[in-house]
Amino acid sequence: MNRTAVEPLDYHEIGFLGGIEIHQQIGTRKLFCECEPKILKDHPDETTERRLHAVASELGEYDPAALHEAHRRRTFYYESYIDRVCLVELDEEPPHPVNQEALEVVLQASLLLNARVVDEIQVMRKTVIDGSNTAGFQRTMLVGTDGLVETSEGDVILHYFCLEEDAARIMEVDERFVHYRLDRLGIPLLEIVTGPVFISPAQAGEVAGKLGRIIRSLNVRRGIGSIRQDVNVSTKYGTRIEVKGVQRHRMIPLIMENEARRQKALWEIGQELSALSPRIERAELETRTRTVTDLFLSSASRVLRSLIDRGGVVVALPVPAMRGFPARELSPGMRLATEFKDQLLTLGIRGVIHSDEDPERYGISPSEHAALTDALDLQDGDAFILFASRPEVVPLALDKLYARISARISPRERRGRHPVHASPPG
Ligand SMILES: [Zn+2]
Repeated sequence: MNRTAVEPLDYHEIGFLGGIEIHQQIGTRKLFCECEPKILKDHPDETTERRLHAVASELGEYDPAALHEAHRRRTFYYESYIDRVCLVELDEEPPHPVNQEALEVVLQASLLLNARVVDEIQVMRKTVIDGSNTAGFQRTMLVGTDGLVETSEGDVILHYFCLEEDAARIMEVDERFVHYRLDRLGIPLLEIVTGPVFISPAQAGEVAGKLGRIIRSLNVRRGIGSIRQDVNVSTKYGTRIEVKGVQRHRMIPLIMENEARRQKALWEIGQELSALSPRIERAELETRTRTVTDLFLSSASRVLRSLIDRGGVVVALPVPAMRGFPARELSPGMRLATEFKDQLLTLGIRGVIHSDEDPERYGISPSEHAALTDALDLQDGDAFILFASRPEVVPLALDKLYARISARISPRERRGRHPVHASPPG
């Protein structure tokens, strides 16, 4: 692939700070039952259906994330196996005592990495609202603190060493449901967490490599999916951003570099937009948003038609004075439009089209395009975003877009997607 050379970043100058969280599956039986930690390929014996309801806390407050998930009204299905998954995974039976062999692995990792082991280990709960845990929370134990690794750029502190349970595995996901398989739920995980301690992506890569070698010397599972890493990056241009689920430690420096580039590019776009026109009022965006389903009732666009046929609606909104911006590259292979698409993807919306793309690529005819331009009363220099979705998630989708556009594209609130669309080095 041909790519124009990108300018190197001065990590000190941009205020770079990176952190990592490593989740490594341990090679023992499950953490709170005696089931074998086998990834099962055959057809499940039974499926259990559950729904999430947001419940007020002891203080009478609702978790906004739980409310958001409940609002999506998704159904969760759990696939299980009569002999190989027990009632603990289904949350129909209390957890058994903590697997001592698994605990030993976390103790070994803590000691090998110079951490201080705590006096008493408590099982704590982390709320999980995406359905990936049947209990609605993940159990986790703090085992060690303040480990230390030496690097060529100075010593690095490893803040936490934890023992926790892995989540259920996603088999199929749709805007209305998620199918999970319970084979992975409850596999013990060694979690190693650093704070924002890395001063460069290269330093993070060095530490990840050293940790990898030590971890592989312990009783851990091997192969695809047995290790997952979350990477976080902050710079002076944005808030701390987390990228979840990185499989290979060699990707970490590149992911950090791209995320730093993305934050810088978004900040620069924000500055440019503010100079072009001052703040865009949310009220203006609201009054100019249109439901344009009628324009596409007999459209050749498969992505729009398939949603319309299932009762969906097509919504369009103008993005004033932003023509050309959606196509702007933030980091190699990632454009500003990808940001909008990612935000809607968190709501399960996939059919997102913007004005810097060729409408015919999506089967939108020139006459449909002209009718849309009219309906939105687009001026020279205006861009638009068009998406099709179920009617009930439209308010949530618009809320995200309005916030982002009126805030002049700040790099906030991004989670859970690799900014890397390129292969790793080496
Ligand atoms: Zn079990």
